Amino acid sequence: MAKIDCSENESVNFLCLKCGECCRHIEAFIEIIPYQHDGICGFLQGDLCAIYENRPDLCDYKRAYTYFADYLTEIEYKEMVLYFCKKFQQMKKC
Ligand code: SF4
Ligand code: SF4
Repeated sequence: MAKIDCSENESVNFLCLKCGECCRHIEAFIEIIPYQHDGICGFLQGDLCAIYENRPDLCDYKRAYTYFADYLTEIEYKEMVLYFCKKFQQMKKC
């Protein structure tokens, strides 16, 4: 999965741990990432993306901001990504 580096903003210090869990919960993005099976992206191999260099815009933290820029500031967007990332990581531990 994408490396997400928010190090330029100390209030949102986050680095992707490559757990792959966000790629197992893409139900809400079926129109944007249409290759899912039971919510799991078909491009997920183990915990990693098989098409990482050519992944959709939504899978790239920086490019995906264009989907949210009309109603979230950059810092709000980063906080949202961090929130859901932590939620996904907790799901993996269960
Ligand atoms: S859930 Fe978070 S840590 Fe896990 S792959 Fe996705 S962005 Fe990275
Ligand atoms: S295309 Fe890659 S980065 Fe995007 S959801 Fe699928 S496995 Fe994850």
